[in-house]
Amino acid sequence: MTKEDVQVLIIGSGPSGYTAAIYAARAGLKPVLYTGGEPGGQLTTTNDVENYPGYPDGINGPQMMMDFQKQAERFGTEVRFGMVTSVDFSEYPHKAIVDEKHEITAEAVIISTGASAKYLGLPSETKYLNQGVSACAICDGFFYKGMEVAVIGAGDSAAEEATYLANLCPTVHLIVRRDEMRASKIMQQRVLNTPNIKVHWNSETEEVLGDAGGVSGVRIVNNKTNEKTELAIKGFFVAIGHKPNTDIFKDYLEMDDTGYLKVVPGTSKTSIEGVFVTGDASDRVYRQAVTAAGTGCMGALDAERFLAAKEFETVG
Ligand code: NAP
Repeated sequence: MTKEDVQVLIIGSGPSGYTAAIYAARAGLKPVLYTGGEPGGQLTTTNDVENYPGYPDGINGPQMMMDFQKQAERFGTEVRFGMVTSVDFSEYPHKAIVDEKHEITAEAVIISTGASAKYLGLPSETKYLNQGVSACAICDGFFYKGMEVAVIGAGDSAAEEATYLANLCPTVHLIVRRDEMRASKIMQQRVLNTPNIKVHWNSETEEVLGDAGGVSGVRIVNNKTNEKTELAIKGFFVAIGHKPNTDIFKDYLEMDDTGYLKVVPGTSKTSIEGVFVTGDASDRVYRQAVTAAGTGCMGALDAERFLAAKEFETVG
């Protein structure tokens, strides 16, 4: 195991991690940032971002994240490809193990690990994962151009994915488990005004059907009438929300029952001194790029103040 001491360790490379890096680097804290398995985070699976201020014409998600990275590096952030696989916050300074082979000791840790897509949990869904089953229409939709597809969910993600796929596919079946959608009004309107999106209300997925060529259909059941219907589809897009990527912290940090890390209200401070959290890992409510970036700034400022106070204690 190789060993290294750093001042500020940032875990994660979404808008919150990179914003924390920009602020920490400009404060001279020489942050080291590990990207995790999905460099750039969830926005790299988004097409156009139209609601991030400062981009009147919108911006492509992957491009935006490359710009975030460039800005963080410009001020001296060391961005490394790697996965923090475990941590030890039982004593100070804090420890983190990267890819099971590199031990980092950090004076301050900023957790920006975000959240990951959830799946229904059906064996048939797992069986056809990446063979027709996907949690990202923007990433994989192109492969289903000209084919029928289904989208599962009723939030903004499902609405966005269904409208995106409707530009590529002759019919998009939107499977909604209740008789209404959770998505914002404007997104719902887009769905309902798109003629080739067919909404199946009160409907749940019973099984993803397939063969050697991957997904060939889906069997849904109406939870009011028990009527079963088989839809011939090639792409099955799950858009039912996300789970925070906080499993490696569960022995040390306070979190709610779904794994979102708890903070001291109005700050990015976790239940352990010198460990801060930013972005979706602690945000079950807003989950936007701009709110993530805002909390990234808070994380860096909180870390900077923590380190300054520590230095004062030592000098004093
Ligand atoms: P979400 O708002 O949590 O919605 C999840 C949806 O999936 C809900 O409609 C839920 O149904 C459904 N669902 C959950 N489990 C299910 C299951 N087992 N079977 C069938 N359906 C299931 O998640 P999201 O849509 O990913 O959005 C997350 C956040 O990001 C939201 O705050 C959203 O506003 C934001 N967002 C914004 C944009 C944008 O502004 N462009 C785009 C995407 C996301 P119920 O309604 O019945 O619970």
